[in-house]
Amino acid sequence: MKVNLLDLNAQYENILPEIKQEINNVLDNHQYILGPAVKDFENDMQNYLSVKHAIGCASGTDALQLALMALEIGEGDEVITTPFTFFATASTIYRVGAKPIFVDINPDTFNIDVNKIEQAITPKTKAIMPVHLFGQAAEMDKLMQLAKQHNLKVIEDNAQGIGAKFDNQFAGTIGDIGTLSFFPSKNLGAMGDGGMCLTNSDDLAGKLRQLRVHGESPKYYHKWVGLNSRLDSLQAAILRVKLKHLESWSEGRRQNAKMYYNLLSNVKEIKLPFINEKAKTIYNQFTIVCEKRDELMAFLQSNDIGCAIYYPLPLHLQECFSYLGYNEGDLPVCEKLSKQVLSIPIFGELTKQQIEYVSLKIKEFYQK
Ligand SMILES: *Cc1c(COP(=O)(O)O)cnc(C)c1O
Repeated sequence: MKVNLLDLNAQYENILPEIKQEINNVLDNHQYILGPAVKDFENDMQNYLSVKHAIGCASGTDALQLALMALEIGEGDEVITTPFTFFATASTIYRVGAKPIFVDINPDTFNIDVNKIEQAITPKTKAIMPVHLFGQAAEMDKLMQLAKQHNLKVIEDNAQGIGAKFDNQFAGTIGDIGTLSFFPSKNLGAMGDGGMCLTNSDDLAGKLRQLRVHGESPKYYHKWVGLNSRLDSLQAAILRVKLKHLESWSEGRRQNAKMYYNLLSNVKEIKLPFINEKAKTIYNQFTIVCEKRDELMAFLQSNDIGCAIYYPLPLHLQECFSYLGYNEGDLPVCEKLSKQVLSIPIFGELTKQQIEYVSLKIKEFYQK
């Protein structure tokens, strides 16, 4: 048996005719930049997430940069974030000229440890950027309270958490601005790049809409220096079809997770994902903490089971951020976990047999 970490074949099989029809509609009306396809998708997303404004842009990375720019964060400012995330979370802080300040993570959820944020706040701190890692929202109640107390902005990097909730509120709609990525391996993936900013503020929405078109309004009059970062109309048309299925796909992932919990809960060498009782996760990844991680990974791969390490090197130890002056040992929780985590297949279309096979092989490895 072969089990890929992610297999999009089954997902596309059913919806491909509808996607092709929607692509044809875009080809027929020739509105390739910010036409009705983008507007319609933005409206659908606003309705789905109960958020006032959804602003499509070219990628999840650009969404973060646009959010920082809209909040006028730049030179001399500090932004507090997590070191255990995809690179773009911190690279965008760097790109706008601000300084990323890394705070260690909660060992159970892998998200930023909200109890360690306060000690990282300085007079230069302008914002906190939590990441809803692997599809589980960070502890937004405590985080928002802290932000309010210290008059800080909150940008939610929700690239991995579309449809996730905290305290019954959609992740990405709780802070000042939330961002989404439609990179193909995200839970709502395009057939290329795409991203989005979410906000309930009319002011910020207006600014974000201008910033994605060179900061212009009206045309050829520039109040700001923005980006050229639009959500492609073809991608928007594709995503609109897929959005209708997102809830059922996420439910499929949760069902798969349940099977893993049943099959693997008594394997003492691994720790299954811990989900905060206030959080509803979408399992962008199913990430276990395991003994002999590298050997387990090699064993699973030799048995045709896809798996991956998210993330092998925390951001504070990346070469490009050495100027920040962090050393090994500064953020011990994420440093340790980066050597122990392994993400195993969780996508919605996995079969029961495949989940049983993955579980069996994990057990077999530790019984050797
Ligand atoms: C994927 C991802 C991004 C970047 O999204 P792109 O669309 O690839 O630019 C940013 N942050 C996190 C946490 C991500 O997982």
